[in-house]
Amino acid sequence: MNEAKSSGYRRRRRRTAVLRAGVWAALLAALAGSGLSRTLAEVAARAAALAPVPDLLQASLVVAGYAFVVSLAGRAIDLPLAWYGEFVLDRRFGVSRRHAGDWLCGYAGATVLRVAAWTAGAVLVYAAMRGWPASWWLAASLAAAVLTVAATHLAPLVLPWLYHLRPLERPALRRRLEALVRRAGAAAIGIHEWRLGSDPPRPNAALVGIGSTRRVLLTDALLADYSDDEIEVVVAHELAHHVHRDVWKTMAYETLAAAVACGAAQWALRSLGPWLGLAGIADVAGLPIAVLAGGAALLLLAPVTNLMSRRLERRADRYAVDLTGKPEALASGLRRLAAQSLAEERPSRVTAWLSYSHPPWSDRLVAAGAAAAVSPGASPARGRRGGAAGGSGIGRADRSGRPPWPCRRRRRRRAHPRAPAAGPCGSAGPCRTDPR
Ligand SMILES: [Zn+2]
Repeated sequence: MNEAKSSGYRRRRRRTAVLRAGVWAALLAALAGSGLSRTLAEVAARAAALAPVPDLLQASLVVAGYAFVVSLAGRAIDLPLAWYGEFVLDRRFGVSRRHAGDWLCGYAGATVLRVAAWTAGAVLVYAAMRGWPASWWLAASLAAAVLTVAATHLAPLVLPWLYHLRPLERPALRRRLEALVRRAGAAAIGIHEWRLGSDPPRPNAALVGIGSTRRVLLTDALLADYSDDEIEVVVAHELAHHVHRDVWKTMAYETLAAAVACGAAQWALRSLGPWLGLAGIADVAGLPIAVLAGGAALLLLAPVTNLMSRRLERRADRYAVDLTGKPEALASGLRRLAAQSLAEERPSRVTAWLSYSHPPWSDRLVAAGAAAAVSPGASPARGRRGGAAGGSGIGRADRSGRPPWPCRRRRRRRAHPRAPAAGPCGSAGPCRTDPR
């Protein structure tokens, strides 16, 4: 592992992410403070008045037009920094070799999804504001929770429309994993191959769905390049999230976080609305203030959110080692995944505290009792079928990859690698398992 290279890459990525968030916040503050938000709201109202829609929908159309323009402008302004942070840095550090056209295509697709999610979220939140001016934040949070549960349940049924999924075909590995699932007491969970075929390759696994739709997905990159022992430990880690009901716990926490964010937005609108000339809580010209307040609340909650996530991940690691009895496979898998994504071995405490949804990989080995399974500096073999990893080089895995651990307690997958933005109050965002 080249820690200096990993640290340089991750440090630049973090700085770029902070800068991107700052630019977005500055845009919202400028909108609210300059009076441009009021002008945009009036233009949206005039345009909506020309549309042949019932009066009942006029207010929603105004909100949709406003949110569409603001979110699209935000994505346009974000483009240069996103280009640097996601394309230039990845190529400079050898994480990806994809072409500029591919990246731009992905950014355009993600923009369509984000703008659509933003617009729909704003329409729903402002409908709640008009219906319950005093308690809309509670109604919006509960509605987001219901939608999240429904989307989580349905996600495995929708995914085959977006990706190529098929039952795991390798008979020997399949028998091993089915036996593992039975030992975990989760016989109803299916295991499927998830063909991403993307650059960079993504050795990853995901526990998706809830109830009868729950299943474990293993990406083609994981199946192609990792040993059967390593894959078994990865699946055991995912099963731990099932056994411990982590998906439900995460959804419950996110509902609470959404309520806090929406409450902060309510407080800001009530406090600053008169000063900004807002006609009321449901005046769409106050949207930038609501988003800034909700975003600030989520930012303050981030250490708690990450702390909870790291605890769940540590427990899942320990469970995986206990269930499989293969600490060496966990160790080798983590080391290889970390090398692929240029994950830092020892980030600063402050960095981990603020931005790590998973513990640093070296801490995970210690917590899972697997630190002694590989000697410092040793790298595992890339044996493909069966056998614990040994001690040869990491190979081309060094130059690819993304997040440093296969786990994504993701409740739903998306058509593009970038998630839609959270709604205006920050609710119903994607799960927070991607390491920074
Ligand atoms: Zn996990």
